[in-house]
Amino acid sequence: MQLNRIGRIQYIEVDFPGSSDSIQGFTTRHEGVSRPPYNSLNLGMNTQDQQANVEGNRSLLARAFGVNQEALVTPRQTHGSDILVINELNEDYSHFLSVESDAVITNQSNVIIGVCVADCAPILLFDPEQKVIAVVHAGWKGTAAKLVSKTVAGMQSEFGSIPAKLQAAIGPCIQKCCYEVDEPVKKAFQQVGITWDLCAEQKTPGKWQLDLALSNKELLSLAGVSADAIQISEQCVCCHSEQFFSYRRDKDDSGRQMGFIMLKG
Ligand SMILES: [Zn+2]
Repeated sequence: MQLNRIGRIQYIEVDFPGSSDSIQGFTTRHEGVSRPPYNSLNLGMNTQDQQANVEGNRSLLARAFGVNQEALVTPRQTHGSDILVINELNEDYSHFLSVESDAVITNQSNVIIGVCVADCAPILLFDPEQKVIAVVHAGWKGTAAKLVSKTVAGMQSEFGSIPAKLQAAIGPCIQKCCYEVDEPVKKAFQQVGITWDLCAEQKTPGKWQLDLALSNKELLSLAGVSADAIQISEQCVCCHSEQFFSYRRDKDDSGRQMGFIMLKG
């Protein structure tokens, strides 16, 4: 992963080895049109930012990658475990903005699929053989719901993807240094087979510092994705206010960055 720029968009570009069929990455907060405290590339529809500015930012992102704003699909995220599948039957994407879902899978080219995040982990999946892409929004609830595992299974059942052939990237999210959680999170994670002692560190009684990215890496491995095909950003969004939005840090004054991926036409 490395910082790159396309048009005005400064983003962390992800290179999936052996393929030039897709383009993907994670946006930073730079070079958008939103005013403080949402400065400046706030891509989240559900913030107190002016809608026109968010629309302007989304248009900047879409145009930078050569598509119209209607081809930028980010569903309405609910910290749930529903998955939106877009295939060749879908000609109009505009209505997907109101669909409640926390992951998207598609085999269609020239449509950017994305998830908006402030602390949660944005996860990108790519199948270079079947030409299928997916994005996942994984906070602790989505992780405990094994959403990333369900998305891998969805790629398999809908489009014939083989998990061992997938590439994955887990983007900047809140890291262990800043993410304190309590007992209910521990219970929920252990119930789905996440190795708690590996993914969390106890600091005080009843409180743990959680590694969200590592938890999802374990789920991806359990789903059959090869460990060396999983890239992880080590950057903490909460520690780096100059680069990223963080809800835990800024509360309602926080904008949203985006994890996105597109199959090239
Ligand atoms: Zn941190």
